[in-house]
Amino acid sequence: MPDTSRQTLPHVHDVVIIGAGPCGLAVAARLREKAPGAIFTDEEHRRHRFLHRYGQSMPLKQVRNGRVTCCGRPTASDTHDLDITALDATHDDWCGRWNKLFKCYNIEHLRSPMFWHVSPVDRDALLGYAYSQNRENELLEIHHCVGKEVSKHMRKRTRTQKCSAHSACNARVEINERDRIDYFNPSQALFSDHCRAVASRYHLCDDVVKKESVQDISFDVVQGISVNDEPLFTVTTDRGPQYARTVVLSVGPANQPSIPRHAFKAFSATESLPQVCHSTQIETFPDTVVRTRMTNGQRTKVLVIGGGLTSAQLSDLAIRKGVTKVWHLMRSPIAIKTFDVELSWMSKYRNLEQAYFYSADTDEERLQMVRAARGGGSIPPRYHKKLKDHISRGRLELRTETKLVNAQFVTTEAGGRWKVETEPAVEGIPLFDFIYFATGIETDVAALPYLQTMRETHPIDEMGGLPCLTEQLKWKDDVPLFVTGRLASLRLGAAGPNLGGARTGAERIALAIQEHFEECKREDKISGDIAAADKDENEWERFVLGHGSKYSCLVEH
Ligand SMILES: Cc1cc2nc3c(=O)[nH]c(=O)nc-3n(C[C@H](O)[C@H](O)[C@H](O)COP(=O)(O)OP(=O)(O)OC[C@H]3O[C@@H](n4cnc5c(N)ncnc54)[C@H](O)[C@@H]3O)c2cc1C
Repeated sequence: MPDTSRQTLPHVHDVVIIGAGPCGLAVAARLREKAPGAIFTDEEHRRHRFLHRYGQSMPLKQVRNGRVTCCGRPTASDTHDLDITALDATHDDWCGRWNKLFKCYNIEHLRSPMFWHVSPVDRDALLGYAYSQNRENELLEIHHCVGKEVSKHMRKRTRTQKCSAHSACNARVEINERDRIDYFNPSQALFSDHCRAVASRYHLCDDVVKKESVQDISFDVVQGISVNDEPLFTVTTDRGPQYARTVVLSVGPANQPSIPRHAFKAFSATESLPQVCHSTQIETFPDTVVRTRMTNGQRTKVLVIGGGLTSAQLSDLAIRKGVTKVWHLMRSPIAIKTFDVELSWMSKYRNLEQAYFYSADTDEERLQMVRAARGGGSIPPRYHKKLKDHISRGRLELRTETKLVNAQFVTTEAGGRWKVETEPAVEGIPLFDFIYFATGIETDVAALPYLQTMRETHPIDEMGGLPCLTEQLKWKDDVPLFVTGRLASLRLGAAGPNLGGARTGAERIALAIQEHFEECKREDKISGDIAAADKDENEWERFVLGHGSKYSCLVEH
């Protein structure tokens, strides 16, 4: 007869990844890769404690000759056989949310360079993929960031004459000329296809990602499921519990987006605002209210609030989609930056800022460094140029250092519109058909509902809304809950919230998970030996008491 009790026992996964974005995919792929590529140099390895810990278990690039030494240490447990599942709140596929946002904002190229990707094989994997698919034409050169090796002639000229603000010798020069090939933006189509290729290579496509929204995580012995009182994670989702030995949290910005409510005085904090939307919650752009008015031949006006790239993308897209006029408010001066983080954080190897970050003594210092490097929102030069073009054609009004202080919903003959007041006041500001907030998401671990149990049962320090993880990106030494992406910024650095942190986070987590399962195997072996010794003793006792046979003590177990 089949053993029905066995069939009903819930399955315990080796690894549950919460969040199937690029960082989650990078972890899953790295766990399945037997020969990962180098992402650190031997010099970095010598200097930084967390790298030192892994001895020879990671491949390193030699600074002197550029050669890569592969990890040769045989391991007791290989992570590529682990049973991995991923849970994502919005999609049942990898990078679903990423793809949706890019499609919604009609973004053709990423902001980041070619070596920011999710593949564990090689730091040039995305570049290699572009060439192998004959898709080099989808790469867009990033201007004004490459060229550290200034010629002797240029150096002399710099000394002898004053250069104008836009001349080449005044351009920001942090990146070495020989790395020029990396400083291209991949197209979204190329990046997305590469992610799909990575998922397929590691057999992560079929049914690995499940559309389930996580509501609670707890870590304890689970009666009837834990063997030998092994503590397990119970990950409760909107579809029920999932059990796991280790959990990886890769939930991106994590918190819900919030619209600054202070300007909407006539509305209570819980009341929904008509014709207002946060950029991360857009379903169709422009909204159907605006579309209907456009189809009826009405003049339409949209207000976009925010100082980052998304706000620029929305302003540009609204104009391209036919909105008559866009007003764009920023509370700070406009910041023009090629990337989200300063260029000095971005080099492939021997990244100086990253080295300072790793060597900082306190999390407070690290938090300040991350904040200083990221600043507020910024716009890359390419989009700044687009905005200037729209301004010159009279389609866009851009007001910097201007705040929205009051918004009143008024009903006109042509339908509901927003009457706004700003600080400083702007003369002749019109009524708006729609307001978009591209104001980002404030990450705060203390406000995440699904981490409340963990925060109560296994409390850790928090700093600036971020958890103070171990160097292995673990919640606590004895709690194998790993965190990557923005929530791990205090360990990954300023590029942590971006693709720049994906591979570094994946590397640390994969090594730590490997170590965890090796440790479990060792413990299992020890308890197995103790159990066998106990059994020998029992057989001897039974013989002495006249119940058992003397020879049964000699049987090998
Ligand atoms: C429009 C746009 C363009 C960008 N362009 C770039 C770029 O070019 N280069 C770059 O480096 N960065 C870019 N970024 C930043 C980008 O968000 C990150 O680089 C990247 O998405 C980080 O990946 P992630 O996996 O950490 O987070 P995400 O991509 O946000 O993925 C997190 C996932 O977790 C899921 N999740 C959240 N909560 C739960 C829950 N409770 N239960 C289950 N699942 C949950 C979400 O559904 C989501 O799928 C861009 C961001 C935006 C919005």
